[in-house]
Amino acid sequence: MVKLFRRLLGLEEPWIIKEIKFDHQEKRVDISIDFPSGSRFPYPVCGQHRTVHDTEERTWRHLNVFQYPTYVHAREPRIKCVQHGKKTVDLPWARKGSGLSLHFGALIVEMGRKVDALRPTHSRKMCKYFIPVLRGFNSLTQYPG
Ligand SMILES: [Zn+2]
Repeated sequence: MVKLFRRLLGLEEPWIIKEIKFDHQEKRVDISIDFPSGSRFPYPVCGQHRTVHDTEERTWRHLNVFQYPTYVHAREPRIKCVQHGKKTVDLPWARKGSGLSLHFGALIVEMGRKVDALRPTHSRKMCKYFIPVLRGFNSLTQYPG
């Protein structure tokens, strides 16, 4: 699941997904992203890799994941370059044209495969998780497993 969302958001090192929360009651998805301390990011102007100067907590509205409004939460890092000053780094999920359109097809295919792979193992928890996702969050009770 995390792998799929990494791809969905276009995440690369050092970004990590901390948590993916499906809230079926509120009908929303919250994805928390972070990076390990000491991470370096390329400076947007000169491309030199720098450690983080400071961060600011931010939330981005991502395209819907399936039918649910999706929010990305992360610390937006600023890095400092002697020549160019302080700048926020380029964020993969905030890039123009990033997101679902590009990865949606591959994601669906891969999720389908995962579900097929999981069924024989009777991994109840995972099936309950994946199958409703694939079917647009229909009622869980339709899929006793
Ligand atoms: Zn620079």
